[in-house]
Amino acid sequence: MYPNGTMKALTLSYDDGVEQDKRLVEILNKYHIRATFNLNSGIQTGASKWESHGCPIRRMNIAGLPALFAGHEVAVHSLTHPHLQELDADTVRNELEQDKLNLERIFQTPVHGMAYPYGTFNQSVIDIAKACGLRYSRGVLSTHSFDLPADLLAYQPTCHHKDPLLLQLAQSFLDMEQPATPQVFYLWGHSYEFDVDDNWHIIEDFCKLVAGRDDIFYASNAEAFGVV
Ligand SMILES: [Zn+2]
Repeated sequence: MYPNGTMKALTLSYDDGVEQDKRLVEILNKYHIRATFNLNSGIQTGASKWESHGCPIRRMNIAGLPALFAGHEVAVHSLTHPHLQELDADTVRNELEQDKLNLERIFQTPVHGMAYPYGTFNQSVIDIAKACGLRYSRGVLSTHSFDLPADLLAYQPTCHHKDPLLLQLAQSFLDMEQPATPQVFYLWGHSYEFDVDDNWHIIEDFCKLVAGRDDIFYASNAEAFGVV
């Protein structure tokens, strides 16, 4: 059971620590909805930038991030955003362990979780994540489900924000009677996609629909998964 006596938690997860996270945080804070931001501390710099469909995308510099993400969770996304399953075990360990240590130092808080870069992983990556003290990690395959898996290091999300079923899934989560075991609505994406696709209304509409309910715990990922 969650702290407010409910069995339903809602959490968001956004990757890569880009400039558009500022606008996303502003919206989330307005609705008292909480998220986990997955960061690549090895390349968390404004020099890391690219373009998508003519839209500039840029990682944020580290200074200012603790204030920006206050009230939310930060989690590992690896040092440099590689395909982890293609690396040797020592390098995977370096990518995860050093990112975790960097984030703990920068944010002055224990770091419990991760999102796999590109959403890809295998059992060896899971084992290394576990050995690094990570308690959960997320892929990118939509389940359209609110169930928690046996292994939280192989977690797959409810859906991406572009999923055409987003509001329908959210409504069925709101309508669900109090379950006997914890159920989690887990939304993920990249905040830059709202700029690229010119669809910030999606997250506003979603927040407006799900906010302000007594029977929902607005959680970070770690809180939704009960690892803190
Ligand atoms: Zn990423």
